[in-house]
Amino acid sequence: MKHKISADMLYNYSQCPHRLYLDLFEDSAKQNRESAFLKLLWERGIDYEKQVVSELKIPFLDLSSYSGSEKEKRTIDAIKQGVTLIYSGRISTAQLVGEPDLLLKKEGEYIAGDIKSGSAFEGENEETEGKPKKHYALQLGLYTDILTRLNHSTSRTPFIHDIKGRDISYDLGEAKGKLNQQTWWECYLETLSEIEQIVEKNVTTTPAHGGVCKLCHWRTHCLKSLIAAQDLTLIPELGRKKREAIHLQVQTLTDFAQKPLSDFKDGKKTIFPGIGLSTLSKFHARARLLAKIDTYAYTRKRIRFPRTDTELFFDIETDPMRDFCYLHGFVERHHGNPDTEKYVSFFADQVDEKLEERVFIDAWHYIKQHFPCTVYYYSPYEKTIWKKLSKKYPELIQPSEIEAFFKSPLVIDLYSEIVKKHTEWPTYSYSVKDLAQYLGFRWRDKNPSGAESIEWYHRWLEEKKLEIKERILKYNEDDCIAMRVLLEGIQGLPLKPHPST
Ligand code: SF4
Repeated sequence: MKHKISADMLYNYSQCPHRLYLDLFEDSAKQNRESAFLKLLWERGIDYEKQVVSELKIPFLDLSSYSGSEKEKRTIDAIKQGVTLIYSGRISTAQLVGEPDLLLKKEGEYIAGDIKSGSAFEGENEETEGKPKKHYALQLGLYTDILTRLNHSTSRTPFIHDIKGRDISYDLGEAKGKLNQQTWWECYLETLSEIEQIVEKNVTTTPAHGGVCKLCHWRTHCLKSLIAAQDLTLIPELGRKKREAIHLQVQTLTDFAQKPLSDFKDGKKTIFPGIGLSTLSKFHARARLLAKIDTYAYTRKRIRFPRTDTELFFDIETDPMRDFCYLHGFVERHHGNPDTEKYVSFFADQVDEKLEERVFIDAWHYIKQHFPCTVYYYSPYEKTIWKKLSKKYPELIQPSEIEAFFKSPLVIDLYSEIVKKHTEWPTYSYSVKDLAQYLGFRWRDKNPSGAESIEWYHRWLEEKKLEIKERILKYNEDDCIAMRVLLEGIQGLPLKPHPST
Protein backbone atom coordinates (compact mmCIF):
# COMPACT_ATOMS: atom_id res chain seq x y z
CA MET A 1 0.00 0.00 0.00
CA LYS A 2 1.43 3.39 -1.06
CA HIS A 3 -0.06 5.35 1.84
CA LYS A 4 0.07 4.02 5.38
CA ILE A 5 -3.16 4.69 7.25
CA SER A 6 -2.75 7.21 10.06
CA ALA A 7 -4.91 8.60 12.87
CA ASP A 8 -5.38 11.87 10.93
CA MET A 9 -6.77 9.90 8.01
CA LEU A 10 -9.26 8.18 10.30
CA TYR A 11 -10.33 11.56 11.67
CA ASN A 12 -10.74 13.07 8.22
CA TYR A 13 -12.63 10.05 6.97
CA SER A 14 -15.01 10.24 9.93
CA GLN A 15 -15.75 13.86 8.99
CA CYS A 16 -16.18 13.19 5.28
CA PRO A 17 -14.90 10.29 3.12
CA HIS A 18 -14.38 12.64 0.18
CA ARG A 19 -12.05 14.80 2.23
CA LEU A 20 -9.78 11.82 2.72
CA TYR A 21 -9.82 11.14 -1.02
CA LEU A 22 -9.03 14.76 -1.90
CA ASP A 23 -6.28 14.97 0.70
CA LEU A 24 -4.64 11.93 -0.87
CA PHE A 25 -5.11 12.54 -4.55
CA GLU A 26 -6.11 16.14 -5.34
CA ASP A 27 -3.80 19.08 -5.98
CA SER A 28 -3.35 20.84 -2.63
CA ALA A 29 -3.17 24.21 -4.44
CA LYS A 30 -6.95 23.93 -4.78
CA GLN A 31 -7.44 24.07 -1.01
CA ASN A 32 -8.79 27.12 0.80
CA ARG A 33 -6.29 28.89 3.01
CA GLU A 34 -6.28 27.54 6.54
CA SER A 35 -8.61 29.67 8.65
CA ALA A 36 -7.28 31.60 11.63
CA PHE A 37 -9.80 29.75 13.77
CA LEU A 38 -8.47 26.30 12.82
CA LYS A 39 -4.95 27.52 13.47
CA LEU A 40 -6.07 28.67 16.90
CA LEU A 41 -7.67 25.30 17.61
CA TRP A 42 -4.47 23.56 16.68
CA GLU A 43 -2.33 25.88 18.80
CA ARG A 44 -4.61 25.41 21.78
CA GLY A 45 -4.31 21.65 21.39
CA ILE A 46 -0.50 21.93 21.42
CA ASP A 47 -0.53 24.28 24.44
CA TYR A 48 -2.80 21.97 26.39
CA GLU A 49 -0.65 18.97 25.55
CA LYS A 50 2.45 20.83 26.78
CA GLN A 51 0.70 21.76 30.00
CA VAL A 52 -0.44 18.18 30.66
CA VAL A 53 3.00 16.79 29.94
CA SER A 54 4.69 19.34 32.22
CA GLU A 55 2.42 18.20 35.05
CA LEU A 56 2.86 14.45 34.59
CA LYS A 57 3.39 12.80 37.94
CA ILE A 58 5.48 9.84 36.76
CA PRO A 59 8.85 9.89 34.97
CA PHE A 60 8.55 9.55 31.20
CA LEU A 61 10.63 9.33 28.06
CA ASP A 62 10.11 12.39 25.85
CA LEU A 63 10.48 11.63 22.12
CA SER A 64 8.83 14.83 20.89
CA SER A 65 12.07 16.19 19.42
CA TYR A 66 12.37 13.22 17.03
CA SER A 67 10.44 12.47 13.89
CA GLY A 68 9.90 9.72 11.33
CA SER A 69 11.97 6.55 11.50
CA GLU A 70 14.25 7.87 14.27
CA LYS A 71 11.24 8.50 16.50
CA GLU A 72 9.91 5.05 15.70
CA LYS A 73 13.21 3.30 16.39
CA ARG A 74 13.52 5.01 19.79
CA THR A 75 9.90 4.13 20.63
CA ILE A 76 10.44 0.45 19.89
CA ASP A 77 13.71 0.45 21.87
CA ALA A 78 11.91 2.05 24.83
CA ILE A 79 9.10 -0.52 24.64
CA LYS A 80 11.67 -3.34 24.59
CA GLN A 81 13.33 -1.81 27.65
CA GLY A 82 9.97 -1.64 29.38
CA VAL A 83 9.88 2.17 29.89
CA THR A 84 6.70 2.90 31.90
CA LEU A 85 5.59 6.01 30.02
CA ILE A 86 6.58 7.21 26.55
CA TYR A 87 5.52 10.66 25.36
CA SER A 88 5.16 11.35 21.63
CA GLY A 89 6.25 7.97 20.29
CA ARG A 90 5.64 6.44 16.89
CA ILE A 91 4.56 2.90 16.05
CA SER A 92 3.79 1.31 12.73
CA THR A 93 3.15 -1.84 10.71
CA ALA A 94 3.35 -2.32 6.95
CA GLN A 95 -0.09 -0.64 6.49
CA LEU A 96 -0.64 1.44 9.61
CA VAL A 97 1.17 4.24 11.40
CA GLY A 98 0.31 5.98 14.65
CA GLU A 99 1.81 8.66 16.86
CA PRO A 100 -0.06 8.37 20.16
CA ASP A 101 0.67 11.15 22.66
CA LEU A 102 1.22 8.58 25.40
CA LEU A 103 2.21 4.93 25.59
CA LEU A 104 1.72 3.57 29.09
CA LYS A 105 2.96 0.24 30.42
CA LYS A 106 0.21 -1.32 32.50
CA GLU A 107 0.14 -4.89 33.79
CA GLY A 108 3.02 -5.87 31.51
CA GLU A 109 1.42 -4.49 28.30
CA TYR A 110 1.25 -1.16 26.53
CA ILE A 111 -1.88 0.91 26.10
CA ALA A 112 -2.09 4.09 24.05
CA GLY A 113 -3.55 7.42 25.09
CA ASP A 114 -4.18 10.79 23.45
CA ILE A 115 -4.29 14.20 25.11
CA LYS A 116 -7.30 16.15 23.84
CA SER A 117 -8.21 19.76 24.44
CA GLY A 118 -11.90 18.84 24.39
CA SER A 119 -14.19 16.72 26.52
CA ALA A 120 -13.72 12.93 26.24
CA PHE A 121 -17.48 12.62 25.73
CA GLU A 122 -19.98 13.73 23.15
CA GLY A 123 -23.11 15.51 24.40
CA GLU A 124 -21.90 15.65 27.98
CA ASN A 125 -23.87 18.13 30.13
CA GLU A 126 -25.51 18.48 33.56
CA GLU A 127 -28.26 16.07 32.58
CA THR A 128 -26.42 13.37 30.63
CA GLU A 129 -22.94 11.94 30.90
CA GLY A 130 -22.51 11.74 27.13
CA LYS A 131 -20.95 8.94 25.08
CA PRO A 132 -17.53 8.23 23.56
CA LYS A 133 -16.61 10.35 20.55
CA LYS A 134 -16.43 8.33 17.37
CA HIS A 135 -13.29 9.99 16.02
CA TYR A 136 -11.49 9.51 19.32
CA ALA A 137 -12.50 5.82 19.38
CA LEU A 138 -11.27 5.35 15.80
CA GLN A 139 -7.91 6.94 16.48
CA LEU A 140 -7.43 4.93 19.67
CA GLY A 141 -8.51 1.83 17.73
CA LEU A 142 -5.67 2.40 15.27
CA TYR A 143 -3.01 2.67 18.01
CA THR A 144 -4.41 -0.41 19.75
CA ASP A 145 -4.42 -2.33 16.48
CA ILE A 146 -0.75 -1.49 15.83
CA LEU A 147 0.26 -2.43 19.38
CA THR A 148 -1.61 -5.75 19.02
CA ARG A 149 -0.04 -6.54 15.64
CA LEU A 150 3.39 -5.78 17.13
CA ASN A 151 2.63 -8.10 20.07
CA HIS A 152 2.93 -5.32 22.63
CA SER A 153 -0.65 -5.54 23.82
CA THR A 154 -3.74 -7.70 24.03
CA SER A 155 -5.78 -5.03 25.80
CA ARG A 156 -8.46 -2.98 24.06
CA THR A 157 -8.75 -0.24 26.65
CA PRO A 158 -6.82 2.83 25.46
CA PHE A 159 -7.57 6.19 27.04
CA ILE A 160 -8.16 9.88 26.49
CA HIS A 161 -6.71 12.51 28.80
CA ASP A 162 -9.26 15.28 28.30
CA ILE A 163 -9.59 19.02 28.91
CA LYS A 164 -11.08 18.37 32.33
CA GLY A 165 -7.88 16.59 33.38
CA ARG A 166 -9.56 13.17 33.40
CA ASP A 167 -8.10 9.91 32.13
CA ILE A 168 -11.08 8.27 30.49
CA SER A 169 -10.78 4.67 29.44
CA TYR A 170 -12.30 3.87 26.02
CA ASP A 171 -13.38 0.24 26.17
CA LEU A 172 -13.31 -0.69 22.47
CA GLY A 173 -15.10 -3.96 23.21
CA GLU A 174 -18.20 -2.04 24.34
CA ALA A 175 -21.26 -1.58 22.12
CA LYS A 176 -21.66 1.90 20.62
CA GLY A 177 -25.09 2.30 22.15
CA LYS A 178 -28.25 0.59 23.33
CA LEU A 179 -29.74 0.65 19.85
CA ASN A 180 -26.50 -0.02 18.03
CA GLN A 181 -24.82 -3.17 19.25
CA GLN A 182 -21.77 -2.80 17.01
CA THR A 183 -18.69 -2.48 19.24
CA TRP A 184 -16.21 0.37 18.86
CA TRP A 185 -13.61 -2.20 17.78
CA GLU A 186 -15.90 -3.52 15.01
CA CYS A 187 -16.59 0.07 14.01
CA TYR A 188 -12.84 0.71 13.79
CA LEU A 189 -12.26 -2.42 11.65
CA GLU A 190 -15.13 -1.51 9.33
CA THR A 191 -13.81 2.06 8.94
CA LEU A 192 -10.30 0.80 8.33
CA SER A 193 -11.47 -1.45 5.54
CA GLU A 194 -13.45 1.44 3.94
CA ILE A 195 -10.36 3.63 4.11
CA GLU A 196 -8.24 0.89 2.53
CA GLN A 197 -10.66 0.88 -0.41
CA ILE A 198 -10.19 4.63 -0.87
CA VAL A 199 -6.41 4.48 -0.51
CA GLU A 200 -6.28 1.67 -3.10
CA LYS A 201 -8.62 3.69 -5.36
CA ASN A 202 -11.06 0.77 -5.46
CA VAL A 203 -13.95 3.12 -4.74
CA THR A 204 -14.69 6.69 -5.73
CA THR A 205 -16.04 9.18 -3.25
CA THR A 206 -18.23 12.19 -3.91
CA PRO A 207 -18.65 15.49 -2.08
CA ALA A 208 -21.84 16.14 -0.11
CA HIS A 209 -22.85 19.61 0.99
CA GLY A 210 -23.34 19.97 4.74
CA GLY A 211 -22.39 21.78 7.92
CA VAL A 212 -19.04 19.99 8.09
CA CYS A 213 -17.94 21.76 4.87
CA LYS A 214 -17.83 25.16 6.58
CA LEU A 215 -14.44 24.51 8.17
CA CYS A 216 -13.07 22.18 5.50
CA HIS A 217 -10.16 23.33 3.34
CA TRP A 218 -11.81 21.87 0.23
CA ARG A 219 -15.05 23.87 0.61
CA THR A 220 -14.64 26.12 -2.46
CA HIS A 221 -13.43 23.29 -4.64
CA CYS A 222 -16.30 21.04 -3.55
CA LEU A 223 -19.00 23.69 -3.82
CA LYS A 224 -17.96 24.37 -7.43
CA SER A 225 -18.20 20.71 -8.34
CA LEU A 226 -21.48 20.24 -6.46
CA ILE A 227 -23.02 23.16 -8.34
CA ALA A 228 -21.64 21.92 -11.66
CA ALA A 229 -23.13 18.47 -10.95
CA GLN A 230 -26.40 19.97 -9.63
CA ASP A 231 -25.94 17.65 -6.70
CA LEU A 232 -28.95 16.78 -4.57
CA THR A 233 -27.11 17.63 -1.32
CA LEU A 234 -27.30 21.31 -2.30
CA ILE A 235 -30.87 21.03 -1.02
CA PRO A 236 -30.71 22.19 2.61
CA GLU A 237 -30.83 19.33 5.15
CA LEU A 238 -30.90 16.57 2.51
CA GLY A 239 -27.38 15.26 3.22
CA ARG A 240 -25.30 12.34 2.03
CA LYS A 241 -27.45 9.50 3.39
CA LYS A 242 -30.73 10.67 1.88
CA ARG A 243 -28.97 11.41 -1.40
CA GLU A 244 -28.01 7.72 -1.59
CA ALA A 245 -31.69 6.80 -1.19
CA ILE A 246 -32.88 9.21 -3.89
CA HIS A 247 -29.97 8.76 -6.26
CA LEU A 248 -31.11 5.40 -7.62
CA GLN A 249 -34.15 7.08 -9.22
CA VAL A 250 -33.05 10.63 -9.83
CA GLN A 251 -29.50 11.96 -10.05
CA THR A 252 -29.61 15.74 -10.14
CA LEU A 253 -31.36 18.53 -8.35
CA THR A 254 -32.76 19.78 -11.66
CA ASP A 255 -34.19 16.36 -12.62
CA PHE A 256 -35.72 16.06 -9.18
CA ALA A 257 -37.23 19.55 -9.39
CA GLN A 258 -38.63 19.08 -12.90
CA LYS A 259 -40.52 15.89 -12.17
CA PRO A 260 -43.87 16.14 -10.38
CA LEU A 261 -43.87 15.01 -6.77
CA SER A 262 -46.46 12.38 -7.68
CA ASP A 263 -43.71 10.49 -9.61
CA PHE A 264 -42.09 9.70 -6.28
CA LYS A 265 -45.19 8.65 -4.39
CA ASP A 266 -46.27 5.16 -3.57
CA GLY A 267 -49.66 5.45 -1.87
CA LYS A 268 -49.10 7.29 1.40
CA LYS A 269 -45.36 6.64 1.22
CA THR A 270 -42.52 7.64 -1.08
CA ILE A 271 -40.51 5.32 -3.31
CA PHE A 272 -37.37 6.24 -1.34
CA PRO A 273 -36.59 4.09 1.69
CA GLY A 274 -36.39 6.06 4.94
CA ILE A 275 -37.88 9.28 3.50
CA GLY A 276 -41.47 10.14 4.38
CA LEU A 277 -43.87 12.09 2.20
CA SER A 278 -43.74 15.39 4.09
CA THR A 279 -39.92 15.37 4.15
CA LEU A 280 -39.79 14.60 0.44
CA SER A 281 -42.30 17.32 -0.32
CA LYS A 282 -40.13 19.82 1.57
CA PHE A 283 -37.01 18.76 -0.37
CA HIS A 284 -38.92 18.93 -3.63
CA ALA A 285 -40.09 22.48 -2.87
CA ARG A 286 -36.49 23.50 -2.11
CA ALA A 287 -35.24 21.84 -5.30
CA ARG A 288 -37.80 23.79 -7.36
CA LEU A 289 -36.57 27.04 -5.83
CA LEU A 290 -32.90 26.19 -6.42
CA ALA A 291 -33.70 25.15 -10.00
CA LYS A 292 -35.52 28.50 -10.44
CA ILE A 293 -38.81 26.82 -11.34
CA ASP A 294 -40.27 28.69 -8.36
CA THR A 295 -38.69 32.06 -8.42
CA TYR A 296 -38.96 33.58 -4.94
CA ALA A 297 -38.87 32.45 -1.33
CA TYR A 298 -42.30 31.90 0.20
CA THR A 299 -44.10 31.00 3.37
CA ARG A 300 -46.42 28.03 3.82
CA LYS A 301 -48.45 29.79 6.48
CA ARG A 302 -49.37 33.38 7.21
CA ILE A 303 -47.32 34.04 10.31
CA ARG A 304 -48.57 36.42 12.97
CA PHE A 305 -45.77 37.87 15.02
CA PRO A 306 -46.48 39.46 18.41
CA ARG A 307 -47.12 43.21 18.34
CA THR A 308 -45.14 44.92 21.05
CA ASP A 309 -43.70 48.44 21.25
CA THR A 310 -40.19 47.10 21.61
CA GLU A 311 -38.39 44.33 19.76
CA LEU A 312 -34.99 42.93 20.71
CA PHE A 313 -32.82 40.96 18.30
CA PHE A 314 -30.49 38.90 20.43
CA ASP A 315 -27.26 37.05 19.66
CA ILE A 316 -24.47 35.71 21.87
CA GLU A 317 -20.84 34.86 21.22
CA THR A 318 -19.08 32.07 23.10
CA ASP A 319 -15.73 30.36 23.16
CA PRO A 320 -16.67 26.66 23.38
CA MET A 321 -13.06 25.62 24.02
CA ARG A 322 -12.95 27.72 27.15
CA ASP A 323 -16.63 27.08 27.88
CA PHE A 324 -17.03 30.83 28.20
CA CYS A 325 -19.78 33.21 27.04
CA TYR A 326 -18.11 36.55 26.36
CA LEU A 327 -20.79 38.61 24.60
CA HIS A 328 -24.55 39.18 24.75
CA GLY A 329 -25.62 41.56 21.98
CA PHE A 330 -28.99 43.16 21.25
CA VAL A 331 -30.39 45.38 18.58
CA GLU A 332 -33.43 47.12 20.01
CA ARG A 333 -36.12 48.78 17.97
CA HIS A 334 -39.22 50.69 19.06
CA HIS A 335 -42.60 50.86 17.26
CA GLY A 336 -41.02 49.23 14.23
CA ASN A 337 -39.23 52.53 13.52
CA PRO A 338 -35.73 52.07 12.00
CA ASP A 339 -34.63 55.47 13.41
CA THR A 340 -34.97 54.12 16.94
CA GLU A 341 -32.71 51.15 16.28
CA LYS A 342 -29.65 50.88 18.50
CA TYR A 343 -27.12 48.24 19.49
CA VAL A 344 -26.55 47.34 23.13
CA SER A 345 -23.84 44.90 24.20
CA PHE A 346 -22.54 43.21 27.34
CA PHE A 347 -18.95 42.17 26.84
CA ALA A 348 -16.53 40.28 29.10
CA ASP A 349 -13.13 41.95 28.70
CA GLN A 350 -11.34 38.92 30.05
CA VAL A 351 -11.92 35.25 30.75
CA ASP A 352 -13.03 35.40 34.33
CA GLU A 353 -16.07 33.67 35.81
CA LYS A 354 -16.98 36.75 37.87
CA LEU A 355 -17.09 38.76 34.66
CA GLU A 356 -19.04 36.10 32.80
CA GLU A 357 -21.62 36.18 35.59
CA ARG A 358 -21.66 40.01 35.61
CA VAL A 359 -22.36 40.38 31.87
CA PHE A 360 -24.98 37.63 32.01
CA ILE A 361 -26.80 39.35 34.86
CA ASP A 362 -26.54 42.74 33.16
CA ALA A 363 -27.94 41.31 29.93
CA TRP A 364 -30.79 39.70 31.86
CA HIS A 365 -31.62 42.98 33.67
CA TYR A 366 -31.54 44.76 30.34
CA ILE A 367 -34.14 42.35 28.94
CA LYS A 368 -36.27 42.63 32.06
CA GLN A 369 -36.24 46.42 31.76
CA HIS A 370 -37.91 46.10 28.35
CA PHE A 371 -40.16 43.14 29.02
CA PRO A 372 -42.86 42.58 27.83
CA CYS A 373 -41.27 43.00 24.43
CA THR A 374 -40.64 40.58 21.57
CA VAL A 375 -37.24 38.91 21.66
CA TYR A 376 -35.90 37.21 18.54
CA TYR A 377 -32.90 34.87 18.38
CA TYR A 378 -31.74 32.35 15.77
CA SER A 379 -31.39 28.62 16.58
CA PRO A 380 -31.63 26.97 20.03
CA TYR A 381 -28.05 27.93 20.90
CA GLU A 382 -28.92 31.10 22.86
CA LYS A 383 -31.49 29.19 24.91
CA THR A 384 -29.05 26.34 25.64
CA ILE A 385 -26.28 28.69 26.75
CA TRP A 386 -28.55 30.90 28.86
CA LYS A 387 -29.98 27.86 30.65
CA LYS A 388 -26.45 26.65 31.28
CA LEU A 389 -25.39 30.06 32.59
CA SER A 390 -28.39 30.23 34.92
CA LYS A 391 -27.37 26.88 36.42
CA LYS A 392 -23.74 27.97 36.68
CA TYR A 393 -24.66 31.25 38.40
CA PRO A 394 -27.95 30.55 40.23
CA GLU A 395 -27.48 33.08 43.03
CA LEU A 396 -28.93 36.12 41.30
CA ILE A 397 -30.90 34.52 38.49
CA GLN A 398 -33.11 31.53 39.14
CA PRO A 399 -32.84 28.87 36.40
CA SER A 400 -36.67 28.70 36.53
CA GLU A 401 -36.82 32.39 35.49
CA ILE A 402 -34.78 31.66 32.39
CA GLU A 403 -36.87 28.56 31.64
CA ALA A 404 -40.05 30.63 31.87
CA PHE A 405 -38.53 33.41 29.74
CA PHE A 406 -37.76 31.09 26.83
CA LYS A 407 -41.23 29.54 27.06
CA SER A 408 -42.89 32.93 26.64
CA PRO A 409 -44.74 33.34 23.31
CA LEU A 410 -42.91 36.67 23.03
CA VAL A 411 -39.52 34.97 22.85
CA ILE A 412 -39.07 33.49 19.40
CA ASP A 413 -36.42 31.24 17.91
CA LEU A 414 -36.74 32.53 14.34
CA TYR A 415 -34.93 29.52 12.92
CA SER A 416 -36.63 26.60 14.69
CA GLU A 417 -40.12 28.06 15.06
CA ILE A 418 -40.51 30.03 11.84
CA VAL A 419 -37.90 29.54 9.08
CA LYS A 420 -37.52 25.77 9.35
CA LYS A 421 -41.21 25.04 9.92
CA HIS A 422 -42.98 27.41 7.60
CA THR A 423 -40.75 28.97 4.94
CA GLU A 424 -38.79 27.90 1.85
CA TRP A 425 -35.81 29.73 0.30
CA PRO A 426 -33.64 29.36 -2.83
CA THR A 427 -30.41 29.07 -0.81
CA TYR A 428 -28.00 26.23 -0.06
CA SER A 429 -28.53 26.54 3.69
CA TYR A 430 -30.99 28.19 6.06
CA SER A 431 -28.34 29.88 8.16
CA VAL A 432 -29.07 33.50 9.05
CA LYS A 433 -26.01 34.43 6.94
CA ASP A 434 -27.36 32.83 3.77
CA LEU A 435 -30.92 34.08 4.22
CA ALA A 436 -30.05 37.68 5.15
CA GLN A 437 -27.62 37.84 2.22
CA TYR A 438 -30.31 36.53 -0.08
CA LEU A 439 -32.45 39.44 1.18
CA GLY A 440 -29.66 41.87 0.26
CA PHE A 441 -28.01 42.37 3.66
CA ARG A 442 -24.21 42.54 3.78
CA TRP A 443 -22.02 42.12 6.87
CA ARG A 444 -19.48 44.92 7.29
CA ASP A 445 -16.74 42.38 8.00
CA LYS A 446 -15.08 40.77 4.95
CA ASN A 447 -14.93 37.40 6.66
CA PRO A 448 -17.93 37.11 8.98
CA SER A 449 -18.26 33.87 10.93
CA GLY A 450 -18.79 32.77 14.50
CA ALA A 451 -15.63 30.68 14.34
CA GLU A 452 -13.51 33.65 13.20
CA SER A 453 -15.04 35.79 15.94
CA ILE A 454 -13.68 33.32 18.52
CA GLU A 455 -10.22 33.85 17.06
CA TRP A 456 -10.67 37.63 17.26
CA TYR A 457 -11.64 37.29 20.92
CA HIS A 458 -8.54 35.23 21.53
CA ARG A 459 -6.42 38.00 19.97
CA TRP A 460 -8.28 40.65 21.97
CA LEU A 461 -7.35 38.82 25.18
CA GLU A 462 -3.70 38.76 24.14
CA GLU A 463 -3.31 42.15 22.54
CA LYS A 464 -6.14 44.25 24.05
CA LYS A 465 -6.30 46.35 20.86
CA LEU A 466 -9.48 48.38 20.65
CA GLU A 467 -9.95 47.72 16.93
CA ILE A 468 -10.19 43.98 17.62
CA LYS A 469 -12.93 44.51 20.21
CA GLU A 470 -14.75 46.82 17.77
CA ARG A 471 -14.56 44.14 15.10
CA ILE A 472 -16.15 41.59 17.47
CA LEU A 473 -18.93 44.01 18.44
CA LYS A 474 -19.60 45.10 14.86
CA TYR A 475 -19.86 41.49 13.77
CA ASN A 476 -22.28 40.69 16.60
CA GLU A 477 -24.31 43.82 15.82
CA ASP A 478 -24.56 42.78 12.18
CA ASP A 479 -25.75 39.32 13.24
CA CYS A 480 -28.53 41.02 15.22
CA ILE A 481 -29.43 43.37 12.35
CA ALA A 482 -29.45 40.39 9.97
CA MET A 483 -32.18 38.87 12.14
CA ARG A 484 -34.24 42.04 11.86
CA VAL A 485 -33.75 42.00 8.08
CA LEU A 486 -34.84 38.37 8.06
CA LEU A 487 -37.92 39.11 10.17
CA GLU A 488 -38.98 41.83 7.73
CA GLY A 489 -38.21 39.50 4.82
CA ILE A 490 -40.44 36.79 6.30
CA GLN A 491 -43.23 39.31 6.89
CA GLY A 492 -43.11 40.19 3.21
CA LEU A 493 -43.03 36.63 1.83
CA PRO A 494 -45.81 35.54 -0.49
CA LEU A 495 -48.07 32.79 0.78
CA LYS A 496 -47.93 29.39 -0.90
CA PRO A 497 -49.80 26.77 1.11
CA HIS A 498 -48.64 23.15 1.27
CA PRO A 499 -49.81 21.09 -1.69
CA SER A 500 -52.08 18.28 -0.53
CA THR A 501 -49.72 15.30 -0.27
S1 SF4 B 1 -15.91 20.48 1.52
FE1 SF4 B 1 -17.44 19.12 2.38
S2 SF4 B 1 -17.74 17.57 0.81
FE2 SF4 B 1 -15.82 18.59 0.35
S3 SF4 B 1 -14.26 17.36 1.28
FE3 SF4 B 1 -14.80 18.96 2.70
S4 SF4 B 1 -16.35 18.11 4.03
FE4 SF4 B 1 -16.20 16.79 2.22
